[in-house]
Amino acid sequence: MDQTPLRVFFRCLSCEAVYCATQKRRPSIDVGRFVCRRCKTTVLQWRGKYSFTNWMGPLDDTRLLAAALRCTRGLEH
Ligand SMILES: [Zn+2]
Repeated sequence: MDQTPLRVFFRCLSCEAVYCATQKRRPSIDVGRFVCRRCKTTVLQWRGKYSFTNWMGPLDDTRLLAAALRCTRGLEH
C-alpha cells in the first residue's frame, strides 16, 4: 500500500482557477468536496479511499510554476 502523499492539481471548469491539493489514501471511505474560492463552483467531489487536503490556491502563474516544479521533483522519488 502506498502511503506517500501526492500533490495534485485541479482546474476550476468555470473560471479556470488552479488549485493544488494533497491526495492521501485512507483506511476507510472518505467523502468530501472542494468549492472554488473565486466562483463557488464545485472543483472536485470525492468518495473513496482517497481524500484531499491542504488546498492551495487559486494559484497565479508564478506560484503555479513553483508548485509544479516541487510536484515534479516529489513525484520522482
Ligand atoms: Zn472557479
